[in-house]
Amino acid sequence: MAILEILKYPDPRLGKVARPVKNINGEIVKLLDDMLDTMYAAPGVGLAANQVGALCRIVVLDIDHENPRQNVYKLINPVIARSDGEIVWEEGCLSVVDFTAEVRRAAEVEVVALDENQKEIKVEAKGLLAVALQHEIDHLDGKLFIDRISRLKRDLYTRRRKKMLRTGASSSDSPRLMI
Ligand code: ZN
Repeated sequence: MAILEILKYPDPRLGKVARPVKNINGEIVKLLDDMLDTMYAAPGVGLAANQVGALCRIVVLDIDHENPRQNVYKLINPVIARSDGEIVWEEGCLSVVDFTAEVRRAAEVEVVALDENQKEIKVEAKGLLAVALQHEIDHLDGKLFIDRISRLKRDLYTRRRKKMLRTGASSSDSPRLMI
């Protein structure tokens, strides 16, 4: 068990596309567990391997923080097999400090993935879980939620973030759950 460092925008590693996992070995199982610990510690409801600097297609999610570790998803090579409808959700991200924005996504998704025992699993989701799954799979493709908002809003945030880094201003801790 270990808490890993979460990369923050504008770290260029967040823009890289993660590779599919070919061999689900002990290293991958350990990474899944470490990512889960890191996610709870943050706290967040989801985390993709890119966010801890590992370029492999792995995500962990748990949207039920009232009952932690009861409804955990550990997904290897997740793919959206079906999506339907439309939803707008106010998203935040553990890798995007001090910013949230409304993002339009599919309202329902079906995701197919492998679990740590190489078994194929299917997740049918709507609401926050559907949003979180799409948000995490975007991470695996090197995309952040700010890539899905207007250029104007993104530029404003980028400027604010660069100033924050320059002046060393610390971010305010948000009580909101981050994806
Ligand atoms: Zn995120």
